[in-house]
Amino acid sequence: MQKSSSYLRKALFLLIFSVFSGISLKATGYGAETLRVVTTLPVLQDFVEVVGAPHVQVSSLISGLESEHTYTPKPSDMILIKKSKLLFKIGLGLETWVEALIKNADHPGLAVIVTSKNVPLIEEADHHDGEKSDHHAEGNPHIWLDPQNVKIMVAHIATALIAADPAHEGDYRKNTSNYLEKLDHLEKALLLKVSQLPDKKIMTHHPAWPYFAKRFGFEIKANILTQVGSEPSAKKMGTLIHLIQKEDIKVIVSEPQLNPKIPKILSEETGVMIVPLSPLPGALPGTEHYLDLIRYNVETLVSALKRSK
Ligand SMILES: [Zn+2]
Repeated sequence: MQKSSSYLRKALFLLIFSVFSGISLKATGYGAETLRVVTTLPVLQDFVEVVGAPHVQVSSLISGLESEHTYTPKPSDMILIKKSKLLFKIGLGLETWVEALIKNADHPGLAVIVTSKNVPLIEEADHHDGEKSDHHAEGNPHIWLDPQNVKIMVAHIATALIAADPAHEGDYRKNTSNYLEKLDHLEKALLLKVSQLPDKKIMTHHPAWPYFAKRFGFEIKANILTQVGSEPSAKKMGTLIHLIQKEDIKVIVSEPQLNPKIPKILSEETGVMIVPLSPLPGALPGTEHYLDLIRYNVETLVSALKRSK
């Protein structure tokens, strides 16, 4: 008797469950097997969508418009984490704001994947983030701005998706190898454009660009900000102005996620050209996907350096 009532309860539960999940499937347009994934940055969202298509539903905690250093989480971020099976982050102390979110979400089924693992790091030349003290040990976190590093990151993403959803391993592997080919192709085309430049000197807004500069051959003479969220002192401003004049720096790379005030002052003082580039996709028109973002950043910088001659 007891047994049959327990069966009844189970059957009733299953019925209710399937009715509700049926409704939610219709509402979202995703199939029952869709893997829910959350990423810290929109650039990781793009990678996971490319590798995971069409089996993943990916959300990014920050959009392209916030700084990756100073983001303040929203209440909806925790709900996203609770609903997800996988969370991808850069690591290296970049997303200091996500640790409390993960802890508060208290979601034991969540796998957190650090995509910077095994990426050859560039040490921080400047103090990058005021909130951490041991940043030198970890290296600069803006690894994704070098397409060669992205190959390693994408491999971590593929491994995690295959582990979570082995049924679609074939698709994940195929998507990955297609993307690696695209990365190589783009890099080759862009390297050719940079190689023709006589002047590759730039000053950057904050230290987001060492991997980008190293891969493509740009020469970073100085960073305006060493701590995101703080302003350079009058003495530092004097040093920067002197450096622009002495080294004949023609271009400052500014970022839409940061306050434009300081690059503007330097430009007014010296005539240096301000060229906005974005470390994250989606902040500038036509940069919604990583491949477009890298192409935009290199081509815009190349044409500015050509123009400045
Ligand atoms: Zn940064």
